[in-house]
Amino acid sequence: MVSEQCTRALALVAGGMLFLGAAQAAAPMMKGQAPGYYRMMLGDFQVTALSDGTVDFPVGKLLTNVTQAAIDKGLARAYLKDPVQASVNAFLVNTGTKLVLIDTGTGNLFGPTLGKLAANLKAAGVQPEQVDEIYISHLHVDHGGGLMAGDKMVFPNAVVRADKHDADYWLSQANTDKAPKEAKGLFEGAMKSLNPYVAAGKFRPFDGNTELVPGVRALASRGHTPGHTTYVVESKGEKLALIGDLVHVVAVQFPDPTVTHAGDSDTKSAVAQRRKTFADTAANGYWIGAAHIAFPGIGHIRTAGKGYDWVPADYSVVR
Ligand SMILES: [Zn+2]
Repeated sequence: MVSEQCTRALALVAGGMLFLGAAQAAAPMMKGQAPGYYRMMLGDFQVTALSDGTVDFPVGKLLTNVTQAAIDKGLARAYLKDPVQASVNAFLVNTGTKLVLIDTGTGNLFGPTLGKLAANLKAAGVQPEQVDEIYISHLHVDHGGGLMAGDKMVFPNAVVRADKHDADYWLSQANTDKAPKEAKGLFEGAMKSLNPYVAAGKFRPFDGNTELVPGVRALASRGHTPGHTTYVVESKGEKLALIGDLVHVVAVQFPDPTVTHAGDSDTKSAVAQRRKTFADTAANGYWIGAAHIAFPGIGHIRTAGKGYDWVPADYSVVR
């Protein structure tokens, strides 16, 4: 009996040694990251940032009204090189009575490093069928693309809302026809993503500043697109402004908010909206959630010299 136990113990020790030996062998390099969701409480509401992934963002090509020297200086200061990684973020707001999703990521319209929103939503414990309302900041494919998976509606029970100025512009066949060849895909992507919801009677556009559900309202921030919208979430005196594409590259546009994006439909208004939002949030200290700032894209804005600084949320568990 004793010797049997000894043998077993020896076998365990030997196994352990073998295991230790194996740990010293070359391990394969792993890909991917932990599921991309990040929760925070906002008064009585819960906000969950959801990652759709990241994508190469060639700053020198996509930012305008800026010199290459200023771009290089801003990126170097942030230990970055061109192209940077742009996060694509969306935000789920649980108001206690409604599940509201703000933006939907890219679906399959923007390549394999993106399109992870639905998987991350599920990883966060929410099935797409549970989402009640979807608010789109603007109808570029990296915001509305996730509404569809091929020809299937990802959120069959949701009402989809966006400003009518964006809907009228991007869902127009006449605009598609007269768009330059390289821009046609943007219109086609918007139609592919939205039209099934329109056909199902599930798309309800609004016009400018509108209360959508208690605690969540649309605030027109037009410029990047004709109907670009910020969604303001408020509960118990706490406030979060989900600013969509008011900013793309922290390292360049925070020091100088006059730097524009090649895709802005009206650069002057886009700059005005960015300046107004940065100044207001820096003065009043509320939360910002942004579609393309490094995931989770939630933080604060403070003044820094003539420009601004981004202060990312302090990582925390939710109790
Ligand atoms: Zn975008």
